[in-house]
Amino acid sequence: MKHRSEHDLVVLGSGIAGQTTATTATEAGLDVLLVEKQPALGGSSAMSGGWFAFSGTPEQTEEGIEDSEDLFRHDLLEGGGHLNDPDLVDTYLAHQHAAHRFLKDHGVRFREVAISSGMSAARGHNSEIKEVLATLHAAFAAAGGTTLTGTAAQRLLTDDGRVVGVLAEGPDGPVELYGRRGVVLATGGFSRGTEMLKVFAPEQLAAIPYGGRGNTGDGLRMAWRLGAGMADMSFVAATYGSHPETGEEFHELLTAYYMGAIVVNTAGRRFVDESIDYKALGRAVLDQPGGLGVQVFDSRVRAQSHRGIPLKDMDTLQELGHLHEADTLEELAGLAGVAPEGLVATIERYNAAVAGKAADEQGRTGLCNGVGELTPIDAPPYYAYPAKALMTTTYCGVTVTPDAQVTTVDGEPIGGLYAVGEVVGGFHGATYITGTSLGKGAVFGHMLGAALAGTDPQRENSGEQRQDSSEQEEVAA
Ligand SMILES: Cc1cc2nc3c(=O)[nH]c(=O)nc-3n(C[C@H](O)[C@H](O)[C@H](O)COP(=O)(O)OP(=O)(O)OC[C@H]3O[C@@H](n4cnc5c(N)ncnc54)[C@H](O)[C@@H]3O)c2cc1C
Repeated sequence: MKHRSEHDLVVLGSGIAGQTTATTATEAGLDVLLVEKQPALGGSSAMSGGWFAFSGTPEQTEEGIEDSEDLFRHDLLEGGGHLNDPDLVDTYLAHQHAAHRFLKDHGVRFREVAISSGMSAARGHNSEIKEVLATLHAAFAAAGGTTLTGTAAQRLLTDDGRVVGVLAEGPDGPVELYGRRGVVLATGGFSRGTEMLKVFAPEQLAAIPYGGRGNTGDGLRMAWRLGAGMADMSFVAATYGSHPETGEEFHELLTAYYMGAIVVNTAGRRFVDESIDYKALGRAVLDQPGGLGVQVFDSRVRAQSHRGIPLKDMDTLQELGHLHEADTLEELAGLAGVAPEGLVATIERYNAAVAGKAADEQGRTGLCNGVGELTPIDAPPYYAYPAKALMTTTYCGVTVTPDAQVTTVDGEPIGGLYAVGEVVGGFHGATYITGTSLGKGAVFGHMLGAALAGTDPQRENSGEQRQDSSEQEEVAA
């Protein structure tokens, strides 16, 4: 006989999206079951760089950073090629402060604010993401939430068209898990889903496989069986750049190109404007021989390394032997497997363009997204970091309403079925801006958890929002 259990809410997936939803709903009084396919919690979130994108925060004010909701909206829509759903973008902007506060109320400390891919102001807020997830889970458990690991959701269960639960495969066999207020898909993307990548982005199979081991697109398939719509499926792209021997324990992505590096191929030639978003760079690098792009820079850029901060940590990369150093460009080229005469000529042309003596051959005008003054590469020692595109994430998926209800291909909400995080399509459009995925998971997860519990997500302290869950049954029905 199948094991059966019933709760107020069933949340599938334990990354930032699932955990924020589950913790918010549990702290607001719901009986929540968090279901994770892998033996360990965290998914891609736990492997990530920990950057959350928020605008108008106290951290930005402290650093004297000028930013605004309008500028953030502009970046999201421009980056997305105006193909993103503006209602989802507006919802993110409207709820970002509530999510930021929720994280900080749970002890999250943002240790650095920086500009990165697709931003025109510094709005990446860096956290120790593993600690964030552990803290959220501890709060979830302390508030009475239940967690099942090693349990893979397989099929949504419906009653008269409404999703009422899920059939899953647990360590001891099949289980039926029911959620009186519904089921939340927080199952992430399909960066590890070879079969799905073959369908939607076969050229990306050349990138280094990465992301959470359980991220094979299960949530998408379950929702599609019920007629869910899909969005942004044609924009799957790997992120540039990680060393070809990157491991899973250490987050090895370096964006020295946003600090002044150029990127060359093995012939020593540039092939792209290095200031564009790193998904577009990923596409450009996949087209180069061996799928390799070498980040080349000098001691000025090297001095900007920040140990322990993902995307900026050149110290650790050098200790790992992945970052080459030499006193001359010729010697550096030899170490990095790049044609020396090609590299020397490229840097001569680049430095001439930076000095205003010629137009840049790739049209580059700034360090990152058009912002920041370019510097010449002429202060030895010189450095080279050979890197490939890393298939971290997919950022496309089911269509949802702004309140996270999954909709059908015809735009009708599917009763009882919600989705948050990377499994959702339509928010990013053509590209992803750093920090907007952890951000999206936290923003929509917090909003949904509170809404399903019948509380106001904008209110400061979720502790005061506890109600008897039986009184709230109508709200989510
Ligand atoms: C190396 C790397 C660096 C990144 N850096 C950043 C960054 O700094 N900022 C940022 O915003 N984004 C970043 N991203 C992207 C971001 O981490 C993810 O998009 C985001 O964490 C997704 O969160 P999620 O909760 O939706 O999914 P995940 O964190 O992937 O969680 C989904 C969970 O669902 C589980 N699951 C899947 N199928 C089932 C099933 N059938 N039943 C039960 N459970 C299931 C998975 O095992 C997984 O644990 C990065 C990604 C990577 C890989």
